[in-house]
Formats: sequence, structure tokens, C-alpha cells
Amino acid sequence: MAKRYLPLASNCPPPPSPADVLYVTPVPDARGRTCSNCVLYSGRNRCSIHGPTVHVTPSMVCGYHVFGAPSAPVFEDIDYVLPELSGLVDAPPSGTRCGNCMYIEYDDERRADICMAVAQEAVPGQSWLPAKVDEFGCCSRWTHR
Ligand code: SF4
Ligand code: SF4
Repeated sequence: MAKRYLPLASNCPPPPSPADVLYVTPVPDARGRTCSNCVLYSGRNRCSIHGPTVHVTPSMVCGYHVFGAPSAPVFEDIDYVLPELSGLVDAPPSGTRCGNCMYIEYDDERRADICMAVAQEAVPGQSWLPAKVDEFGCCSRWTHR
């Protein structure tokens, strides 16, 4: 596909880069992200970094997700993550992923392709190139569509 640079409105900075939004590559088994496939999930409706008082179910997700088999205990003597700041939400049934985010655009063969909220390249004040993303990637700008 030919590169498609998009114009910038005057005095408007380009969108953030993949690193700015903590873009994560697809999980190995091509699923979306939920607490059920996060190493920080502790079972019994608890998350190791949200602590012993926050109710967290396997069908939720937050911005600290790390893919892997749930295995961590609820850590002691750490500053627990606050749910109102971690992005803790009920995830869609297929988990959070670029493929169910409102910012994804598809190519001619209906494959998830580029993100309209993240810039791969930008020419300050002139134009920007949307980032290439994977249907099973994700980032902190994920917004359900
Ligand atoms: S709340 Fe976040 S860090 Fe905790 S288990 Fe769920 S995704 Fe992982
Ligand atoms: S499509 Fe959504 S989740 Fe994927 S990189 Fe763009 S903003 Fe992030």
C-alpha cells in the first residue's frame, strides 16, 4: 500500500508515536488482552499490583497488562496501582486489541492495517503517516468501538 500522509491542522502537534502510547505487539496465541491472560492476575478476583482490596475479575483489563499465565501473588509492601488511574475496565469478550478499537482502519482485504490515532512518522507542521498496527496489538489509547 502506498504511504498515506495526512495533513496536520495548523498549530496542531502530530499524534503520539507507538512508544508514546506504549504500543504492544500481538500476544503469542492471537487473543485480545484480559486479566485472564496477564501474569499479574492472582486469581480469586485479585490483581497482584492493585492489591488486596480491589475487586478484579478475569474478564477485566488495565493498562499494566503483561501477557502470560496468571501466576503472581498479591505483592506486599508496594505502592498499589489505583484503579481510577490504571484504566481498569471490563474488557470486551475478545479482550482489548487494535481489531476492536475505534481508531483502526482496514486495508482493501479487510485486514487491520493502520491506526488513525498514532503516528509512524511526522513532519512537524506539515503531515503525518499513520502507524502500521496489528489486529492483535494494543496500546494505551485503546477505545472500544
Ligand atoms: S488489572 Fe491489569 S495488571 Fe492486574 S491482572 Fe488485570 S490486566 Fe493484569
Ligand atoms: S488501533 Fe487503538 S489500540 Fe491499536 S494502536 Fe491504535 S489507538 Fe492503540
